[in-house]
Order: sequence, then structure tokens, then C-alpha cells
Amino acid sequence: METGIYKATVIVGKNEGGSLTTVSFTDSSLYHVTKDGENYIVAPSSDISDKDVGRAEDKTESDESGQRDGQQDEDGSFYERQDCTHSIEYEIQQEADPEQDAVLAGVCSLCGDVLSYSYVPNSAYAAFLLEAVKSILSAQEGEALIETQRWVSFNQMVFDAISQRPERAVTVNYRYKGTLYTVTIPAGADVAGLCGERGFCGFRYLDQIFEGREIG
Ligand SMILES: [Zn+2]
Repeated sequence: METGIYKATVIVGKNEGGSLTTVSFTDSSLYHVTKDGENYIVAPSSDISDKDVGRAEDKTESDESGQRDGQQDEDGSFYERQDCTHSIEYEIQQEADPEQDAVLAGVCSLCGDVLSYSYVPNSAYAAFLLEAVKSILSAQEGEALIETQRWVSFNQMVFDAISQRPERAVTVNYRYKGTLYTVTIPAGADVAGLCGERGFCGFRYLDQIFEGREIG
């Protein structure tokens, strides 16, 4: 995750025996996230309202009514406690893997409550591309096999890896609109220029070029 402006998708859930049971999702306002070593510093983005700034920063002004959080969040899903204004820091709860985006936990540095869980956009796809590159460049003999139930394209980084290992064929098993397909990029194939202007090449296009087929 890089420094930038994010909207947290809050999963309201219960932590039971170490596994998170999701109850519902809520989108937060925008936050500016800054990486600081292992931690993420989260501050309200400057283009959100004063009201939201007040609730996300450390408590700077007195409000003894105790009603503020309730007023701002009627269903009570965002804040459970009335006596803490909460200062959120984000920690990686779960690293991205090729099938699931990384999950950040928003933890209050004042009271320790976990206030939110949010997915890091595109982190699963990035993990998938890295796994593909690793398996293409790995020292093992024979063709590289890349299997995915979720993704339907490579970026230029993967084709660069393929070009570095011209002796190795690369087979991709993937799912497209519910159907499983396989396509093999033969050893030594010219893969330069397969990515379009946006820097990606869809597996359906690879299928046309290298004559893939359905497998179920
Ligand atoms: Zn707190």
C-alpha cells in the first residue's frame, strides 16, 4: 500500500476464535494514508467536511454531551465506544495473495479497538502478477503452469519474464465467464507487443494467438 487517499470499506464483523465473521460493510469517508515503517498513519483527507475531521483526529475540543458519535453514525457501526474519539492507525491484517486483496485493520491507537477492516485495491492482482513472474523465472525444469480462478490478463512485467526464459513454455489455466480454458505460450514465442496501450494482455487474446482451448 502506498501513500495516498483511500476510502476505507468497513467490515462490521465479529472476531470468533481468530476468524473474522463478516456482518456487513460500510464505506467510510476519505482518509489520507501515509506509510510510516510498519504502520500506516491515517488522517482525514483535506477534502472532507469539518465534521468528519473532528471525529477522526485526536480529541482536541471538549464535547461533554457524549452524543457526538451517535449523532454522526446513527447505526453505531463505526464506533462502539462513546468515551474515545479514536485515532486510527492502519496495520496489515492479512497480506495480499493472488486470490484476495490485502486487508488492513484500522486500530485505535488510544483505546486499541479495531474499528475497521479494509481491502487494499488491486493488491491481489499485483500478487498474482508477481507469482506468475516467479513461477516463470523459477529454476525448475519444464513448462511453467499458471492457474487462476480470478484473473484474466497479464501485464508487461509477465511478458518480460517470458522473454527472459525463451526455453520455457508457459501454460495458463484460467476461468472466463464461468468456463475454464487453457492456453500455452510455446517456448521461444515472440511475446513482444502483446500488451495493448494500457499495458495489459487479456488471456482471451492469448487464446486467439496461441490457440487455446476449453477444458471445462
Ligand atoms: Zn479509541
